[in-house]
Amino acid sequence: MTGRARQSVQLGEPVRDPEPATGCDVCEALAQQRVAAYAVGNRSKVSDCNVEIRRHPHRK
Ligand SMILES: [Zn+2]
Repeated sequence: MTGRARQSVQLGEPVRDPEPATGCDVCEALAQQRVAAYAVGNRSKVSDCNVEIRRHPHRK
């Protein structure tokens, strides 16, 4: 028993990422960058994109 499996919840359980706002070019571009970052395993870039998407202001 290593105890490692319980601590790393990321494997097999995707973290919920923020949704880009529909019709927002900036958010869509960020979402594409996030996909590319996932593809190369660049998790710090992924979280950068998530932060940008979350903070991008939109009026309802
Ligand atoms: Zn946006």
